This record gives sequence, structure tokens and C-alpha cells, in this order.
Amino acid sequence: MAHRDQPHRAKKSLGQNFLTDRNICRKIVDALAPTPGASIIEIGPGQGALTEHLVETGARLRVVEMDDDLADRLEERWPDLEVIRADALKFPWAELNAEGPVRIIGNLPYNVGSKLIWDIVSRVETLERAVFMVQHEVALRLTAEPGSKAYGGLTAWVRNFSDTRYLFKVPPTVFRPRPKVDSAVVRFDPLPAGARPEDPDRLAELIKLLFQQRRKQISTILKKRMTPAVEQWFREEGVSPSLRPENLTPTQFRALSLIY
Ligand code: SAM
Repeated sequence: MAHRDQPHRAKKSLGQNFLTDRNICRKIVDALAPTPGASIIEIGPGQGALTEHLVETGARLRVVEMDDDLADRLEERWPDLEVIRADALKFPWAELNAEGPVRIIGNLPYNVGSKLIWDIVSRVETLERAVFMVQHEVALRLTAEPGSKAYGGLTAWVRNFSDTRYLFKVPPTVFRPRPKVDSAVVRFDPLPAGARPEDPDRLAELIKLLFQQRRKQISTILKKRMTPAVEQWFREEGVSPSLRPENLTPTQFRALSLIY
């Protein structure tokens, strides 16, 4: 049970940096464009900074919180709120596909943000929109263009499932306790069902293989897999296999993963 008369002590291990600026919280929730009756999941509600705005929308809201003390306090404040006490990294995201459309939001704990986003965009086929606050540097990676320094495996993967848009930067000063780095809010608008990768496992395998050695030329990394069919694919794409992995677009990763 929560010690109600005592303030919650932030746990660093759970990435607990709580938002203190109501205007910013409102802006983050507005970016999700919630409507009454919509199904929304919030990851890591913490002390309810975003939750209080989400509750007001009349959406069907569920929250996933790993910290029992915070979960107790949330249930006490909003007795009707569905609080799921779980590790979001182990949440069965694909089970949401049996339901209707869903929107997902969260000021994500920094140590697990990239991994959660990797899983959610690929597993939740019924995702209508997501809005996540992440470390600024991760936001740059999620929204990077091919050929740029920030473009990497996370970018190539996520963009095969979703468009991404960098919305705004959030400074450390609006959190308690203050994080060491800037944060930013990113919006995810999933690609239509027909535009999702045919074989996500092969795509993940290729992305990991190529970005593990991102300084090398693609042809060097692929070595024996540079079959005549693969060489022909590079010719037809007008891409030199002597380029580095970050020069392939998300769509090119997908196409190459099916033939290499
Ligand atoms: N939403 C609140 C806010 O904006 O003030 C809290 C955000 S805080 C950065 C991250 C929250 O995620 C904390 O409440 C923390 O307990 C929770 N959390 C951390 N790791 C988690 C995990 N693996 N699964 C679910 N919740 C987690």
C-alpha cells in the first residue's frame, strides 16, 4: 500500500523523472488527438501528470505502471482507472490486435524507450497513433533521414511501420527530479496495413546485421550473400553496394531483406 501521507520518492532505476509543467502535459496529450470512447493506453503514468488530461477526454483509458507504490496512488486518485501493474517490456502488445483501434502514449522511462518503441510499432497492427516523449537524441534517431548521422537501425525499423514526426523539445527544467539531457516528443502515424513489411523477422535480422558494422561497406558486411540476384537488385535500385548501411532507405532495407 502507498504511504499516502508521504510523498513518493523517485526511483532512478525506473527512469522516474516526473513532468511538472501542465501546459507541456496538455500539449503532449493533445498530440494524441484523443476522442471520447477511443481506446488509449498510457505507459508509465507515474504521478499522473499526463493521466489527468487523458482522464478528462472521456476515452477508455488503461495505464501500465511497474511501480506498485505509484499504482496504489493512481488507483486511489482515480478509482475507475484501469491500472495494469506490469513491465511494459513484457506486455503482450500483439494481444491488442484482437481489439479495435488503439492509441498509445507515454513519457517513457529513458532506459527502455527505444526497445519499447521497436516492439510497439511492429507488434500493434491496430495502432492508430502513438505519442512518446523520449531522450532528445533518440527523437533525432527516430526522425532522421537516410544518410544522416542519426539514421540507424531504430530509424530503418520504425519507419517500415510508421511515419514519425518530431514535435517539440522539452528542457530538463520541467521535470522533478531533473534529467541530465533534453527530451523531445515524437508522434507516430502508422503506415496503412498493406504497407507493413511482409517478413518482419528477416527485416530485423538484416537491419541488425548491417548496423552492427555501420562503418563498413554493405558489400563487405554481406560478403557471400552478394549473389547475382542481390547484385542485380543494387544495380536496379541505382545504389552502390560499396556505400555504408545508413545510405539505404527504410523501403530498401525491406526489399533487400527478402532476397539477400
Ligand atoms: N508519466 C509520468 C510523467 O510524465 O510525469 C511519469 C514518467 S517517468 C519518465 C516513467 C514512468 O514509467 C515511471 O512512472 C516509472 O515507474 C514507469 N516505468 C519505468 N519502467 C517501466 C516499465 N518497464 N514498465 C512500465 N512502467 C515503467
